[in-house]
Amino acid sequence: MSEEQVQDQKNDFFKSTDKNPSHIQPEKLTLDSSLKFECHPGVPCFTACCHNIKIILTPYDILILRERLGIPAHEFITRYTEPTFLEKTDMPGVRIKLTEDKKACPFVTPEGCTVYNDRPTACRYYPVGMADFHEGGTDDAKEDKFFFLVKEPHCKGFEEPKQWTIREWRKDQGVDKRDELNKEWLRLVMRRKSFGYQATLSEAAKRMFFMASTDLDSFRRFIFESSFLDTYELDDETVAKIKEDDVELMLFSFSYLANTLFGAQGMTIKKEKIDAKVKEIKARQDESLKDAEREYLALKAERDRLRNEEEKKSTGE
Ligand code: SF4
Ligand code: SF4
Repeated sequence: MSEEQVQDQKNDFFKSTDKNPSHIQPEKLTLDSSLKFECHPGVPCFTACCHNIKIILTPYDILILRERLGIPAHEFITRYTEPTFLEKTDMPGVRIKLTEDKKACPFVTPEGCTVYNDRPTACRYYPVGMADFHEGGTDDAKEDKFFFLVKEPHCKGFEEPKQWTIREWRKDQGVDKRDELNKEWLRLVMRRKSFGYQATLSEAAKRMFFMASTDLDSFRRFIFESSFLDTYELDDETVAKIKEDDVELMLFSFSYLANTLFGAQGMTIKKEKIDAKVKEIKARQDESLKDAEREYLALKAERDRLRNEEEKKSTGE
């Protein structure tokens, strides 16, 4: 990516109600800013925010939730999610599928969240959103972050007396780890957003993005049961890591997508594969030349035959 600035307003990205998508307070906050808020089973609105809500799932959310539920990725995706587009782009993703009757998250009960320790990133952010401004697309790109409050009218957590700093709140919610693991995936979406629709992305590329983002089991098969390892240069240590560790495989999928979708550095095609491709193209070109030559000779022979016939007719032979 060139010099464009990418804005990543995470709270708005992950989670919004349909009626009012933001409720963002205008004040910029830092990690040391204070926050008066608490959410617990005693608040009168308990679980209100687990209804009528749009919760986008990141690849890490999916990985953790399906591990917790003990089901494969494709089953999780079918049972608990529905397709959506990410951040007003044509990048396909998934969000939690709400129940038909109550429009509730499938994991909520009157007692609270049944997957609380493994709840999605979106559920950890509220009510503190974060805006990231990454300048440029390189690893050492300048980053500037600030935080903001999202104050939904029905949320009584702001009436609770508990005081935190934003830093303490984020630590309590475990969002730092999520930010780190979601970072490169979010960058892919934001890159797509900043490029706009002028830059075309093939249907095959979108399918690959969706598969890698939602179904690591399929992505693993793609790596280990196709010609992938014969095509790309990967050292043994990386191969061993992505074979055994789902998180490593997920992070690897982000590098692969950045490379194939946006031409980012980091993945190298084997020299012999490039040489073989060049040879194949050259062979095709040689064959085309031969075809053209054959066609030319056939046309020439036909033209000569017609000319001979004409000559014979004109001389009365
Ligand atoms: S995952 Fe848990 S916290 Fe998040 S919306 Fe569902 S029930 Fe609520
Ligand atoms: S609306 Fe606010 S206080 Fe109520 S359950 Fe949701 S986050 Fe907690």
